[in-house]
Amino acid sequence: MRSVEEAQAAILAHARPTPGEIVPLEHAAGRVPVARRFTARVDVPPFANSAMDGYALRAADAPGDLRVTGEIAAGSVASASVEPGTAMRIMTGAPLPSGADAVAPIEVVAEHGELVSVPAVEPGAHVRPAGGDTRAGDEVELPDAPLGAAAVGVLASLGIGELEVHRAPRVAILSTGDELRGPGDELGPGQIHDANSPALAAAVAEAGGQPDVLPRAPDDEAQIAATLLGCLATADVVVVSGGVSVGRHDHVRTVIERNGTLDFWRIRVQPGKPLAFGQLGQVARPVLGLPGNPVSALVTFELFVRPLIRAMLGLRSPGRLVLPAVPAEPIRKDPERRAYLRVELHRVADGSLVARSTGGQGSNQVRPLAAANALLVVPEGEAAAEPGRIYDALVIGALA
Ligand code: AMP
Ligand code: MG
Repeated sequence: MRSVEEAQAAILAHARPTPGEIVPLEHAAGRVPVARRFTARVDVPPFANSAMDGYALRAADAPGDLRVTGEIAAGSVASASVEPGTAMRIMTGAPLPSGADAVAPIEVVAEHGELVSVPAVEPGAHVRPAGGDTRAGDEVELPDAPLGAAAVGVLASLGIGELEVHRAPRVAILSTGDELRGPGDELGPGQIHDANSPALAAAVAEAGGQPDVLPRAPDDEAQIAATLLGCLATADVVVVSGGVSVGRHDHVRTVIERNGTLDFWRIRVQPGKPLAFGQLGQVARPVLGLPGNPVSALVTFELFVRPLIRAMLGLRSPGRLVLPAVPAEPIRKDPERRAYLRVELHRVADGSLVARSTGGQGSNQVRPLAAANALLVVPEGEAAAEPGRIYDALVIGALA
């Protein structure tokens, strides 16, 4: 049985970055640029301009009474220079007129008629120099993350109107199980609603992938095989849930073995011990067989599929915070496996984080997972998370 890290490394070894596609900047938020470094072709700002509404002047003339010779609004350019003994009214963002080397903000001057009384100002005061943010020729490096609002703003300020981003990895999702019905369907005896198809589709989208939910398959080897092989023409990754364990009706491993390569199928993790990984078909597409219990499916998605999707997007970091946290009360677990317990983190008076179990830790109980903002990582060899000890908490939601 593999450890979590061994399994993650084996899976990431199969991550091939998706090709790029050109998108307009306004559609680039949340996408991952193929190139993280850009060479600025322009100064930002492109010209020296005023940081305040006020008066452009020569610092050497201040303090004193100056004659006002004109006004410059943002987007216009002064038609004359600021001569000694004069000033020009200037608005935030307007280009500094020639001759001027400082701005006296409107709040500190007294206007009377044609004249303005200004206090002493330093040369350069309230002036934003050309290239003060970025100089033409500078290397601008974006963070290892999907483009956020500020990064989009940086690219826009550099004059970049479109850019190449990784195509979202297409992730085919297949729920297997004779007992499964659609979320809107009436249930007959022994049937349950398929929670995994919609939940995993949401998780794929959240990780930056493009989900493609396949029609559910019963516990039938031929049908599972036909559905999986049928999606390989378009899928970059295949995620199956259910039917991956050792029951008489579990066929997913056999399907992978007969139609590709099965690398491993068990991990020392709770929840989620039965997890199959391999490659399917001639095209050797990565395939993950996740356990059917919805909590196991989502937690193993978090640990093994999300990093794969991010790696295919060219991202190196998992994009999750890991913070130290102390359990509020003991939370029992399987001593043989590393556990990822569903907890809610609260900040207490001294600034540290306390973890409270959000409810039953059974792998079928999905509501406590929805209530959790973190997974508390408790090592192998321990029978419980103990109060007074510090554990890593993998943050998966907002901290209150
Ligand atoms: P399996 O992995 O097929 O042994 O399933 C383990 C448990 O998860 C069983 O109780 C299944 O009924 C349940 N299960 C499997 N697939 C789903 C699904 N898509 N949605 C909700 N529960 C599921
Ligand atoms: Mg089953």
